[in-house]
Parts: sequence; structure tokens; C-alpha cells
Amino acid sequence: MSKRPVVTLKPKEGRRARAGAPWIFSNEVAGLPKELPPGSVVDVKFDDGQPLGSGFFNPKSLITVRLFARTLDANPNRKFFERHLSRALTLREQFYARPFYRLVHAEGDGLPGLVIDRFGDVLVVQITIAGMELVLAQLIAALNALLKPTTIILRNDTPSRALEGLPSYVRAELGSAGRVVVEENGARYFADLGSGQKTGWYYDQRDSRAFIAGLARGRSVLDAYSYTGGFGILAAQGGASEVICLDSSEPALALAEESAAANRLSVRAVKADVFEELTRLATQKEKFDIVVADPPPFVKSKKDLEPGAKAYRKLARLAAEVTAPNGILLLASCSHNIPLERFASECAAGISRGGRNASLIRTAGAGPDHPVHPMLPESAYLKALVYALD
Ligand code: SAH
Repeated sequence: MSKRPVVTLKPKEGRRARAGAPWIFSNEVAGLPKELPPGSVVDVKFDDGQPLGSGFFNPKSLITVRLFARTLDANPNRKFFERHLSRALTLREQFYARPFYRLVHAEGDGLPGLVIDRFGDVLVVQITIAGMELVLAQLIAALNALLKPTTIILRNDTPSRALEGLPSYVRAELGSAGRVVVEENGARYFADLGSGQKTGWYYDQRDSRAFIAGLARGRSVLDAYSYTGGFGILAAQGGASEVICLDSSEPALALAEESAAANRLSVRAVKADVFEELTRLATQKEKFDIVVADPPPFVKSKKDLEPGAKAYRKLARLAAEVTAPNGILLLASCSHNIPLERFASECAAGISRGGRNASLIRTAGAGPDHPVHPMLPESAYLKALVYALD
């Protein structure tokens, strides 16, 4: 018999979990085991004693348990990680010839609270829940056994960690943080893993970058919110006549310029606030054949929905105003708190206010290295809409 702490659901609760959802919410639980520290591994049972699974417990979170197995008594040990990491790896190797991808995308890979981006022999690990933090040693052992990386960076500085009672830190578990090369869509970029944003590179837009680059030959491109040039550099490689990378981050733009040069390409880096710069460009009647706007999340939490939606609409208007006749406009949102339908309607309204007619030619999300748990559709945070303007 298991001696592990047991979390029991209230009568009639657990419908979603029974159907396969990996989260148990605090209102579904019949009294919390009090003295249990955040991150403890627990068994979860229905009120009639039927087993539900094993999970990470955190009384501080609205998501009281994150299940990692559908059996009782499962342990997140090295073998567990080796099994899940192998499966995640096999999946990625079907899509990508080179080892540059998101290797683990949390629940989408059966590993709650864990994200790992792979840059060849360099791994960037991001942990967002207390339970995963407590089994870090087992995870690292499995990564070493499976991938023999030279470098493992722990990028444990996401704001959401505070909700789990976790400290914020960045450290090298193996090797040292620094600049790496990212190979994506046949281009080579630089990423700065110690001080860059998130894990240092946004693999999620890979497919949309390729789509835009495929349209870029001979055309001018404005890459707004360019970060280190993910869209702009590939567009330049695709034969764009001119590429402007626009961002407020000096270090990100410096890396974009260096990456462009390493590919024997050139992009023009402009450091400015996107809203101000688009307003200025619109006033001067400047136009670009292709405009990409991939901003930081405007809807960080549910209460930001209305102001955030308004900001997306305004961005769509300004971006449409600087898109040339018969041009292409990509508008993206990485806010999981705004649903696709709402984002699309704000984009449509903004484009229309910008005085343009448009047809939606592509609706995309993150690439297949960002798998989504089928019972957590809201975790598909990225939306990228491509419009053909009149
Ligand atoms: N398109 C990028 C990712 C963009 S991330 C890629 O393909 O990799 C969002 C970017 O917006 C960040 O680089 C951040 O520095 C920038 N940013 C945030 N607020 C900004 C603002 N007001 N004006 C310009 N850039 C901004």
C-alpha cells in the first residue's frame, strides 16, 4: 500500500480530470493536507476511493495538483524523465533535421511546469512549479544520460514562479551561459542565453517566419518587435529588397545585426517604441510590402483583456496604415488570455479603421515542437494571423 499523502476530490468533482485533463483545481479538492509542503508528490483519488493518478501538489496555487501519471504511486525519478524525454525527442526528430527546437513543452509533453529549449549541445531549462523544482536532480541526470549536453542553463526567472512560492534565479548547471548559434529554417542566428528574454530564442514562430520569408523576394519588410531578428533575417535571406528590424531593446537589435552579418545579409536596426515609430512612419506615408508585428503579450492576465484588446486593435490599425497596396500583414499575439476569435476580431477592426480591406490568408500558432495537451487548449497561447491587404 502507498504511504504517500492522498488528495481526495469532493463528491461529483473530477469530471475534467476523469476525461483526461492534467489539472486538479483547489475547489475540486475535499480539504487540503495541511502540513504538506509545496511541491510534494501526492496520490489523487476520487471521493469513492477510485484512483486518479500521481501529481505535484501545491496548496499555494489555484491548480492544487498537476498530474504527471495516471496511476497511483508513480515517481518522477530519473527513469520517468528518461521515458518522457525520449518520447519528446523522438517527436522532434521527426520534424527537424537539426537539434534546434523546444524539446519539452510542459503538459504537452507530459511534464508539467517544465520547458526545455535545445540549441545543439546547449539546453535551457525553465521550471515554473514547485514540484518540478524539487526533482531537478533527477531531471538533470536524465538529460545528461540521454543527450550528453555540454551546457545546461537554468533560466528560472519567470514571474509566474512567485505564484508557486519559488525564487527567481538564473544559473549554469553545466558549462556556462553565453551566446549560442541557433539554426532555424536554414538560417543561422545568435541567441544570448544568459541575458536574453525567456529562454533566449522564440522557437514558436519558426513556421510563420518561413511563410513570410517565402513571400519576401524583392519586397520591403518591416519587422516590428523584431527581438533578435527572427522574421527579418529570414526575410532578408529570402531575397527581401530591404529589411527594417524595429525593437526597443538595444542588445536584441545588436544581435540581429550581428546575425545578419554572419549570414552575409544586412538589416537596418531601428531602436524605437513600435507605436511611436509606426505613427511617425504613417504620418510620413512610408509603406512596406510586408509588415510583421509580433509584440510582447498585451493581455498578461484576464483583467487586462479590454485594454489589451484595444492595444491589439490599435497596433493592427497602425500596421495596416504602413502596409503597401497589395501588401502582406502578419499580426501575432502570444497572450494566452485573449482567445483567437477575439484577437482576430480586434485585428479585423483595426485593419478596417486603418482604411484597408483585407483577407485572412493564414491562421497559425506555434510549431509542432510546442505540443498542446488536448484537454488544455488554452495553453496554445500563440496566434499569428496573416492578411493580404488591398
Ligand atoms: N518577433 C520576435 C519576438 C518578439 S518578442 C522573434 O521572432 O523572435 C517581443 C519584442 O518586443 C521584444 O524583443 C521586446 O524588446 C520588444 N518590445 C516590447 N515593447 C516594445 C515597444 N514598446 N516598442 C518596441 N519594441 C518593444
